[in-house]
Amino acid sequence: MDTFIVKAKLRRFNTPLSVVTGAVVGGQYAHQLLTYGVPVSLTAGCALAIFAAVRVAVGVLLERLSGETYRCEVIGCGFRVRLTGTDAGESRRWQEIALAHPTHNHRH
Ligand SMILES: [Zn+2]
Repeated sequence: MDTFIVKAKLRRFNTPLSVVTGAVVGGQYAHQLLTYGVPVSLTAGCALAIFAAVRVAVGVLLERLSGETYRCEVIGCGFRVRLTGTDAGESRRWQEIALAHPTHNHRH
């Protein structure tokens, strides 16, 4: 399968996948805490925090997997371009721009 199609599907399903994953993990923690007799108010707070953390982590991971990142190849230069939703031609142009950008900002 074409990588652009896979990446487009990852972008399309980013929100539902991250929300469902966060809800499942948060729900499992809530269930475990309730079986140990933890009060509902504490369990709800923990479950919501776990839901939010997992939802953001999965969302960032899927966003990274669904995009392209091009970096300058000059040693010490931190210039990079991250793209999502581009076709092959546009992606190639940004790759060339990243390789030939005019000013290198060195990180020390
Ligand atoms: Zn550079």
